Amino acid sequence: MKFPTLYDNHNRPINYVRLAVTDRCNLRCFYCMPENGIKYLPKSALLSYEEMERMLRILAQMGVSKVRITGGEPFVRRDLVPFMQRISQIEGINQIHLTTNGVFTGDYLPQLQSIGIASVNLSLDTLDQQRFKEITRRDDFGKVMQTLEGLLRYNIPTKINAVIMAGKNTQDIIPLTELTRHTPVSVRFIEEMPFNGEGAREESDSVDFWSFRRILAELQTHYPQIYKIPDGKHSTSYNYAIPHHQGTVGIIAAFSRTFCGTCNRIRVTAQGTLKTCLYDDGVLDLKKLMREGASDEEVSQALLYAFRHRPKDGFEAEANRLNHSPVSESMSTIGG
Ligand code: SAM
Ligand code: SF4
Repeated sequence: MKFPTLYDNHNRPINYVRLAVTDRCNLRCFYCMPENGIKYLPKSALLSYEEMERMLRILAQMGVSKVRITGGEPFVRRDLVPFMQRISQIEGINQIHLTTNGVFTGDYLPQLQSIGIASVNLSLDTLDQQRFKEITRRDDFGKVMQTLEGLLRYNIPTKINAVIMAGKNTQDIIPLTELTRHTPVSVRFIEEMPFNGEGAREESDSVDFWSFRRILAELQTHYPQIYKIPDGKHSTSYNYAIPHHQGTVGIIAAFSRTFCGTCNRIRVTAQGTLKTCLYDDGVLDLKKLMREGASDEEVSQALLYAFRHRPKDGFEAEANRLNHSPVSESMSTIGG
């Protein structure tokens, strides 16, 4: 069954939720998390799977049809696959996507295929084992590559997400793009956002920042025949193809925030906070609402209110933050 589409106060449809199932992670990508000292939430502060299912049921009835499971690292939470199986049965939810670092994912590919996973975004910032270790502070490159091979073997639509960072992995732009030559993957380069749970950083203002324009210039230098292809309706990436390559290339201007005008997504953090923009500091405490005994109708009304008061873009959302400070929390708690 298809439920009617819901529109926000800027006439953007709301049909996509990104759900962080945990704030924990087995890696420590330096752009995302500090090496030590990240304060994980106690288990009781996280939404239970039952609460997540209830919330998704309510959202589905409001018109949300697409769910992305993210985190933290989703596979760090026990019983993830049975949960995904259950939500695949929710009426109205017709696409389930996953964002993962790929370290544990390889063990679950048959199950992901059998629930009809729509796509997997695999985070992979480099094809060099040593650089992988420096970036993630863990030595799991081999496992991630096995997962990538497995995803292709199982014909699961796959995107590779690579955050591009000055002095760290800019030399990987071309080797990662080369993956598109013989495989049908979409490789997306992401501007680094200057927050990793340790406070906002300044790099993005520096001349060395790798903006989407600079990444594109690098690609154009190596592939003069690269050409623009249409972007999906609510795509956050600018997409390109290279003649004779099976896959495609995308660039996500996560820091420049050029995609806000068509943004159709909302986020729910692992502790059950609704975010209607990546850059806001949470607009509704869904966990509190549900634990205080709100009915489905009351939850739905509160969600509706939040959707009708959505900021126009990430700059407005950031300006509206309670203490007016820029985003500093980790994407692992935001739900990247
Ligand atoms: N652990 C999973 C993974 O890494 O794919 C899912 C969660 S992770 C927070 C989701 C995405 O956020 C990853 O692709 C990661 O590269 C991206 N991310 C995290 N911190 C970022 C930052 N400071 N700038 C840009 N992207 C970031
Ligand atoms: Fe973990 Fe993903 Fe953050 Fe890396 S980007 S530390 S894999 S949550």
